[in-house]
Amino acid sequence: MSTLFLRTLRDDPADAEVASHRLLVRAGYIRRAAPGGFSWLPLGWLVYRNVERVVREEMDAAGFQEVHFPALLPREPYEATGRWTEYGDNLFRLQDRKGADFLLAPTHEEMFTLLVKDICGSYKDLPLSIYQIQTKYRDEARPRAGLLRGREFVMKDSYSFDLDDAGLQASYDAHRAAYISLFDRLGLPYVIVSAMSGAMGGSASEEFLAPMDVGEDTFIRCTSCDYAANVEAVVTPVPPAISFDAQREAIVHHTPGTPTIATLVEWVNSDTELRHPERDWTAADTLKNVVVKLRHPDGTIEPLAIGLPGDREVDMKRLEAQVAPAEPEPFDEDDFAKHPSLVKGYIGPGALGSDNASGIRYLVDPRVVDGTAWITGADKRDHHVIDLVAGRDFTPDGTIEAAEIRDGDVCPVCASPVEIARGIEIGHIFQLGRKYAEALDLTVQDEHGKPATPTMGSYGVGVTRALAAIAEAGHDDLGLVWPREIAPADVHIVVAGKLDGPQFPAGERLAADLEAAGLRVLLDDRYGPSPGVKFKDAELIGIPTIAIVGRGVADETAPTIEVKDRRTGEREDIALDAVVAHLVATCRS
Ligand code: ATP
Ligand code: MG
Repeated sequence: MSTLFLRTLRDDPADAEVASHRLLVRAGYIRRAAPGGFSWLPLGWLVYRNVERVVREEMDAAGFQEVHFPALLPREPYEATGRWTEYGDNLFRLQDRKGADFLLAPTHEEMFTLLVKDICGSYKDLPLSIYQIQTKYRDEARPRAGLLRGREFVMKDSYSFDLDDAGLQASYDAHRAAYISLFDRLGLPYVIVSAMSGAMGGSASEEFLAPMDVGEDTFIRCTSCDYAANVEAVVTPVPPAISFDAQREAIVHHTPGTPTIATLVEWVNSDTELRHPERDWTAADTLKNVVVKLRHPDGTIEPLAIGLPGDREVDMKRLEAQVAPAEPEPFDEDDFAKHPSLVKGYIGPGALGSDNASGIRYLVDPRVVDGTAWITGADKRDHHVIDLVAGRDFTPDGTIEAAEIRDGDVCPVCASPVEIARGIEIGHIFQLGRKYAEALDLTVQDEHGKPATPTMGSYGVGVTRALAAIAEAGHDDLGLVWPREIAPADVHIVVAGKLDGPQFPAGERLAADLEAAGLRVLLDDRYGPSPGVKFKDAELIGIPTIAIVGRGVADETAPTIEVKDRRTGEREDIALDAVVAHLVATCRS
């Protein structure tokens, strides 16, 4: 450490919101270089390479072959699949000196498809799974939390090519199994959840989420069966339709002084005429209509109305996932001015839908089935309509999964309550199907000599994000705590003694002996800092075993070295002549 290119910090960097970011900067692993971009210092790069090695070893063990692509790519392949436009603002686009369009790749489906088209001609070349570990670029709207969401980050991306659905399923299963062993080895806790496939297209898809509060993904887990899903992918169980026969007539009422859903519900329940025939009305009986604007990738703007039970908010992430690649934006005063049939605060199905005054597309929550009766806006100031029945009094243009999911909602599989939690997306596996192969005209000859279009899968691991997630999962108040395989060294030797004492030579000797025995060692041989500062740095840096060469080594009759477990804090004095064997055993166990 006396020559190591390192600077540890006592204080948290001002811009760091999460522990991994804070500690990786403080412990001298990374430094911010750009918004969403980080430089790696020697200790950080050792850790990075360890994570990368584990990822690579698990991919290789599964029989996937490593290739490598440029990140700077021409526009044409991405134009052919539509993603040059669909990626929207997230894509870094640039031009060369001749004015030709390029991009910095956010992911590489197109290029892998073209390479396979270039190399493979026959069904005999399949199945094939190839991967790379490479820097990706995304102009994220909100780069945040250090390595967790960068604009330049490392991803391991694999792609599988098969002739038929059974083959794709087998390749998908092989990746799923490889991800399980990979995240187990990285020591990361994870939950496998059903996911939406987003801008990638395709059908079956699952995410590996590290369950942690700092994550940006929200998922639900059933409390009784093994169902788990990203909230974006949750499908609301649809209640059975209700017959119109017993339904009351829809009546518009003057409802002054009911500015909120709660006051409206209270007012309806307090009126004997309007009381629900069997029970009290609740906020869930009101139909709230929210209007947004969709900005499509080609720049066009389309208003969209969403009808949902009044006890729930629109979940922006669920909505975004449903309307992608379009992006929802707020409907502002100017927009209301352009649509006079929309009476703010009193928007009802009467004004919505392609057949009605506003002509605005109207999609409702799946709970709004035929025969359900609602309290909703009457499209007139201070007026609501009661007993407006879906399918009888209004017909929406379709349904949309945009309502928030809540703790205790029913599981779509077994109807038990679900619980809700947050997680960090560390991996994602997709069955893409033939979208990319078709767009880029990839075919191989089948057994009968006829051209066949392969079906593809795409599989990603956020390598730098996984590193940050490991730091999140393992830290404590004192600093980082690395799993041994990922740590920058096995043993951190702290020399704590006077310049002319026996500690410095003993520390040097121990380091040399441990290295000769095959362990990786970080030796704190600095003269300047006090032992207290050195101990603090050792805790902060987070190497799993700390060996303190201090007062004990000066005991001439029975010299000892203190060995401390960074995770548990347990300390033991070990006889000097037994310490190498002891540490080797500790680090190998
Ligand atoms: P997110 O929803 O977090 O933006 P994504 O679904 O867009 O991620 P994928 O396209 O599935 O990401 O990319 C594969 C993996 O790459 C993700 O599972 C994640 O681990 C990692 N990753 C994606 N975006 C970033 C980023 N901005 N910074 C670091 N890692 C990322
Ligand atoms: Mg993803």
